[in-house]
Amino acid sequence: MDYSDGRRIDLHIHSSASDGTFSPDEIVALAKKLNLSAIAITDHDTIDGSKEVIQKGIPFDFKFLTGVEISADPPPPFSCSGSFHILGYLFRIDDDTLNKTLYTLQTARRNRNPKIIELLNKLGFDITIDEVIDFTGEGQIGRPHIARLMMKKGFVESMDKAFDNYLGRGKPAYVDKYRLGCSEAIEMITGAGGIPVLAHPSLFTIENKSFEELIHVLKDIGLKGIEAYYPEHSENNTSYYLELARKHGLLITGGTDFHGSMKPEINMGSGRGDFYVPYILYENLVNSI
Ligand code: AMP
Ligand code: FE
Ligand code: FE
Ligand code: ZN
Repeated sequence: MDYSDGRRIDLHIHSSASDGTFSPDEIVALAKKLNLSAIAITDHDTIDGSKEVIQKGIPFDFKFLTGVEISADPPPPFSCSGSFHILGYLFRIDDDTLNKTLYTLQTARRNRNPKIIELLNKLGFDITIDEVIDFTGEGQIGRPHIARLMMKKGFVESMDKAFDNYLGRGKPAYVDKYRLGCSEAIEMITGAGGIPVLAHPSLFTIENKSFEELIHVLKDIGLKGIEAYYPEHSENNTSYYLELARKHGLLITGGTDFHGSMKPEINMGSGRGDFYVPYILYENLVNSI
């Protein structure tokens, strides 16, 4: 792979349209300042951030890809713990089916949030859904916003504590959310002319089969890439994913999962230190369409 030209990209960024704290404008300004050559805003279940950037106009000499991140169920018979997410890139932003499906996911989130608040109230916390809405602003609400407000109100010391003790899966204020099946998520992205990619594979564990068996099945149902470059991946993780991608003819992508002050240890474009994602991956992605 050619890393030599030094250009960098970041294809995994959250905006204030979901659980990031930077607005789409601020993200583009920061990406320009950091001299990134290409970025994608990959919000959870919404493309409002991408839409805003496109409507306002993309600075020339800068590449912007449409993006999204979908929480999905792994394909049967695989069972997994952790975060099984499918990224989508370069889809048509006005695709009807994609917009309708995302709307369904957003509605499911809106119905879930008051249930989480109700459980927190039962646990004795004085918190209301209106407070969460005021605190979040315009974007859609997720557990991170609830966790941050719990911190602000002095109920927990940190976001991790909020997730570990209350909001995380299996904890007393956990409410499951409606998810797309993996093939539905892949079809939604592909149907809109986009490229589906398996997000941060080290953040979930397949409990009943091998990871490579999963890759086989995902490829059969239309997966096109693996997010091999990710700040949390060890060098061994990354080499393993690169090797699997090569072996199975999948594209390679990468990004930091920047969330602004929701994840203050992660910087746009560089993650935790000298991490970076080479520009060639952007070219390969675009050229694959
Ligand atoms: P939700 O989309 O509402 O189910 O919330 C899941 C999101 O919460 C993930 O995508 C992460 O961005 C975030 N998250 C998960 N665990 C933690 C944690 N321990 N601390 C902060 N944010 C977290
Ligand atoms: Fe997030
Ligand atoms: Fe994710
Ligand atoms: Zn993400």
